[in-house]
Amino acid sequence: MIYLDSAATTAVRREVLEAMWPHLTAEFGNPSSHNEPGVSASAALADARARVAAVLGCRGSEVVFTSGGTEGANLAVTGIALATPRGRHIVTTAIEHPAVLESCDYLERFHAFEITRLAVHSDGLVDLRELTDALRSGTTLVSVMYANNEIGTVQAIAAVARAAHAVGAAMHTDAVQAPGSLPLDVRKLGVDALSISGHKFGAPKGVGAVFLASRIAIEPLIRGGGQERGRRSGTENVAGAAGLAVALELAEQARMANTVGLAEARDRFIRDILCAVPSARLTGSASSRLPGNASFTFAGTSGESIVVELERRGIICASGSACAAGSDEPSAVLLAIGITPEVAHTAVRFSFTEALGIDDLAVVARELPRAVAAVGAGRTN
Ligand code: PLP
Repeated sequence: MIYLDSAATTAVRREVLEAMWPHLTAEFGNPSSHNEPGVSASAALADARARVAAVLGCRGSEVVFTSGGTEGANLAVTGIALATPRGRHIVTTAIEHPAVLESCDYLERFHAFEITRLAVHSDGLVDLRELTDALRSGTTLVSVMYANNEIGTVQAIAAVARAAHAVGAAMHTDAVQAPGSLPLDVRKLGVDALSISGHKFGAPKGVGAVFLASRIAIEPLIRGGGQERGRRSGTENVAGAAGLAVALELAEQARMANTVGLAEARDRFIRDILCAVPSARLTGSASSRLPGNASFTFAGTSGESIVVELERRGIICASGSACAAGSDEPSAVLLAIGITPEVAHTAVRFSFTEALGIDDLAVVARELPRAVAAVGAGRTN
């Protein structure tokens, strides 16, 4: 099987599983307990926190472990907005993940926030001038994703954060697609909050982390025993945190070693597909793009049928965002970049990491035109 759906999820890495194992077996203590197993669990949690903080370039006390990207975005957006309502105004974009968009909808409906949802250019990039125009002195929060999960467009987060701070607004970025691909230093990015999710980079599903700068007030979403400095109650997932730390370190090492090579392989793949399939159009930006994302539309076909056809040939990819899977609605992200609903239904996304062999992409480049032709010839499912 050639797996090109790493934007949806990844396998747990062996090193990660090995780091987790002791905390699921012999060292099973509750980090809040004062007995010996508890103290040892607490030390393991502190170690994981410090290692995540080292990659993010922040203090350990600024890292909150969560259940994943959805919770991290909910905590950052809702938690910051409710703790410091200021002018009750949030600026975000039309192409955010539902974890951000629905947090904004909630604040609008139940807490009288005004939400500005910025349109984006046809390559998925936010217009910095439009963003600046939307900001006002009372803006509470700006939430702009680092990289889009469907089309791979990477935003100029440091510039967005500077604009947000110029009016005193806090800045959150949904960085779920960034580990292993983009720099994560929160001080260089200039953000106040950044959320990540373990299962996108070799840790298990159900564990994530959010950086919350110490200067930012936060209203918790989960109340209880006061764990995570009161920002996220509930007995901590020690094994998950230990695994997340190792996975994040490995992703960062891979990024430093390999991003250019991966981006080159992606560009070769994109060129091959655009050349071999006349109906193929790249979605997203050609230049400001995740190194492991190649996504296309194939007008006149069906994305779903191409995915099934490729799967028959041992190639796994996606017809849309996994988060929106199960829905027949065209992708809101594709509509936001100006693609018609009809063409949006022909989208296929290939997402991969450095673990993929270069030869694998060549196999896909050979099989995809055949799959598109088979679908076009009516051999759909
Ligand atoms: N944000 C983005 C950009 C994502 O791609 C995803 C998942 O696909 C999420 C948030 C949600 O993360 P999780 O699955 O950990 O809840």
